[in-house]
Amino acid sequence: MGGVKAALRQSYLKRRKQLSAEQVCILSQKAQQRVLALLAFSAARTVGLYAPHGNEVDTGLLSRFAQATGAVVASPRVVHGTMEFVRFDSECAWQPGMFGILEPSLETQLARSCQVAPEAFDVIVVPGVAFDPAGNRLGYGKGFYDRFLAQCAPECVFIGLAYDFQLEDKLPREAHDIALDYVVTDAKSVACPALSRA
Ligand code: ADP
Ligand code: MG
Repeated sequence: MGGVKAALRQSYLKRRKQLSAEQVCILSQKAQQRVLALLAFSAARTVGLYAPHGNEVDTGLLSRFAQATGAVVASPRVVHGTMEFVRFDSECAWQPGMFGILEPSLETQLARSCQVAPEAFDVIVVPGVAFDPAGNRLGYGKGFYDRFLAQCAPECVFIGLAYDFQLEDKLPREAHDIALDYVVTDAKSVACPALSRA
């Protein structure tokens, strides 16, 4: 299983690397507009958003929308090998964390008070290397999101955000893999059948 996932990761990441900055921008706007059309996102009061890295679909529009509605918006950071989410706002500075991914830059004491617990989220927008219409997700191979999403409330909505070429017919799924509720791309929104999150 590990080998199958690793080979898929390599080919999908290679393809994403080839996108131009202009393609990233145009396709990201389209994909984000589709997320904004989902009530699960637009009505959410506590929102998890990743900071885009390595040609991932941008989340800037989603971030600005959520902040304008007064939602609590939080982004991941890795502390002692564990991913947690910390609140950010438009004033917040960002600094590169693990793998060079930007994280809200907060003084430790403040960061602790700004941590948003997994069970507090209404919606989390999840990055990935590939997705399938059943809601299966291929991540970067570290299982960070699988571990975090497993702690969220059953009502929390997980939205995978990607380019349309990142949709695979059927991805391998292991017992620890947490399925998504929606997969949204520049071309479509897929409502996934409810799969066990266990
Ligand atoms: P990704 O989801 O990033 O594509 P994988 O699903 O292949 O990566 O998982 C990577 C590693 O993380 C695996 O070795 C897996 O055992 C571990 N892992 C994932 N979820 C959990 C969990 N809930 N508890 C413990 N280990 C986990
Ligand atoms: Mg996984």
